Amino acid sequence: MKVFLWSMVQRALPLGENLQRRGITSDVSCPHCKATETSIHTFFLCPFAQKVWEKIPLHHTVHIAADDTIETILSKFRNTICLPPSGVSSPIFPWTCWTIWTTRNKLIFENLSSSPEEIVAKSITLAREWSTAQAKEPKQNTTFPGQTTRQGQEPPRYRPLPPDTITCKTDASWDKTTRRAELAWICSGSEGNTIQQGTELQESVASPLVAEALAVRSAIIAATSKEIKNLRVLSDSSTLIRAITTNRQEKEIFGIVFDISNRSFLSFNLSLSIIYLGLKICKPIA
Ligand SMILES: [Zn+2]
Repeated sequence: MKVFLWSMVQRALPLGENLQRRGITSDVSCPHCKATETSIHTFFLCPFAQKVWEKIPLHHTVHIAADDTIETILSKFRNTICLPPSGVSSPIFPWTCWTIWTTRNKLIFENLSSSPEEIVAKSITLAREWSTAQAKEPKQNTTFPGQTTRQGQEPPRYRPLPPDTITCKTDASWDKTTRRAELAWICSGSEGNTIQQGTELQESVASPLVAEALAVRSAIIAATSKEIKNLRVLSDSSTLIRAITTNRQEKEIFGIVFDISNRSFLSFNLSLSIIYLGLKICKPIA
């Protein structure tokens, strides 16, 4: 599936337009509507594909703009989930594209056609099969503390978070030219109430990794003043989290990591998690 999605992005699928670009002048038209067969057309814009997407029980509709590319569409679909009765807990996007693709091939090479309803049913079945297979062997390294598996069991490797745990989201932006970093953090309680938040501007920052580390450090300094017992810090830098949690020495941030560990050791139980949400907590600093 990864290779298939990668091929979509790389324009490597043997679709009409891609074949023509490589000098193979076979029929370049869409087998459903006779428009030029591009990736975006086949998977999203073709009236046939649109009928398929209309019937997929998505939690929210994904709008495709005229200037969208396969990459931007992929990221728009990344977090789309299906509504509960479908029983699909993983993203449906890859399975739908895959079924549209195999259906297209069947139509061209075997003259067998499927209805949009059949494609939807097939996609949901495939996504369900995938989810079921994953549930048997939960990938523990991607399960965060406090998060449960599909069967509702806590993976044994992690302790549940204490109920008074404060969650602190951190993020940083870094400018290559000015070497300036903007750091931001927000600490909230279990009910989502904000306990502490702040932004900071740092000059002469060597890299984005240093910026992310400084954001965590600033958040921890701010949290120390709040008498927090259990703090969970989220960052989107896996290198940083690894450096803190495994004592793996990253030369670039060694001093900052040392400071983070020391300060949190003195003040609270610290747990760290990786979050890949692209937090937009940075308010522009004037
Ligand atoms: Zn078409």
